[in-house]
Amino acid sequence: MNGAASGSRPSDLLPASILGLLGARGPLTRAELASALRVSSASITQASKELMSKGMVLELGQLASGGGRPARPLSLVGSAGQIVGVKVTASHMAVVAAKLDGEATLTRNIPLDVSRPDALDIAARSLQEVLAAVDGPVLGVGVGIPGSVDSLESGVADSPTIGWRNAQVGTVLRQRLGVPVLVENDVNALAVAEQVYGVGIKYSTYLVVTIGRGIGCGIVIGGEVFRGAGGGAGEIGHVPVADDGPLCPYGHSGCLESLIGSAGLVRRAVELGFFDATGLQGLNAELEAIRMLAARAERDPSVAEGLFGWAGRLLGSAVAGAVNLLNPETVVVLGEGSEHWALWEPGFAESFRSKLISSRRWVPYIVDPWDEDKWALGAAALVIASSFDKDGSTGYQGELVRERLSVAASNRAKA
Ligand SMILES: [Zn+2]
Repeated sequence: MNGAASGSRPSDLLPASILGLLGARGPLTRAELASALRVSSASITQASKELMSKGMVLELGQLASGGGRPARPLSLVGSAGQIVGVKVTASHMAVVAAKLDGEATLTRNIPLDVSRPDALDIAARSLQEVLAAVDGPVLGVGVGIPGSVDSLESGVADSPTIGWRNAQVGTVLRQRLGVPVLVENDVNALAVAEQVYGVGIKYSTYLVVTIGRGIGCGIVIGGEVFRGAGGGAGEIGHVPVADDGPLCPYGHSGCLESLIGSAGLVRRAVELGFFDATGLQGLNAELEAIRMLAARAERDPSVAEGLFGWAGRLLGSAVAGAVNLLNPETVVVLGEGSEHWALWEPGFAESFRSKLISSRRWVPYIVDPWDEDKWALGAAALVIASSFDKDGSTGYQGELVRERLSVAASNRAKA
């Protein structure tokens, strides 16, 4: 491969796709590879033969396969490099380096003043230091932004949350870091992580709903993240759910996020007299306040019902609307707010179930245990997912990742 213009045919992509998938998910049989990559088993047999002859993939011992022909899983030889993920927030960058299977090897929390005009340069400098500390080759860097991003490849971001307009995230970081860089909306990045490591193994059409500072939604349809015309799909936080309420950054009232995002929850707690917000400042103070309110809600049913029950019901209505509209197989709930899901759930379950149309009344929802690193790991998953990118959405940066993966795996095989 020698550049963006050469245009990859699917058959050229297949060996790197196999390497990426084996790296992400661990050993897989040829049948599992064929089904995950949606190609014929003959193509998998051909491509895996080539990879085995180059010493990049090996065949493990036989596994009994339910009475049929024994299946021999294929495995990646050694570690083929690391992936790096960055989540940009209003106060800092959460950074993680991970092996291809998603196991974190390094995490950093780097303060960043996003309001500075040279914020991207400062970010690049900090990330150079992180890359220098990563052991082994870096396949690429994924960046999650709380806003809309034009495409993964060009990475121009607009984010009212952090005050970035037309920010050239992809171009600046690529030049400064010298590795492939893929930029995506942060919730879409979580949806990609679910594709690689989570529910995507079982489901192909699902919603990833995040609760916390913001309320977001990643939409995966037929195994692909649906990004919309300008990369801005999934703004469930701006679905109107009330006639009035505080104004959102776009100047609308009654938006879901303004009501039940962390700022909205704190505001409601003050209105109901559960909480005195005098002196409360900053995002972390907000999250602390919510932790405190959650602890109170455990003891006091009026706080549980008036705050979290109410929020759960509004969320349930909006998500039911999205399920009625898009007909997914399942819904995943994630984000820092899911720490208190036991408090949200009664209200959520009630309004969600009651507002679904009858044919999808039993659509399951899944709540994963949450920790803050997941945002950055989600961004890192953009890199590994680009190695089995089927629709070409990762463009030339995706090609560069595949190239690096093949080189790293073959160097490793020689070692
Ligand atoms: Zn809004």
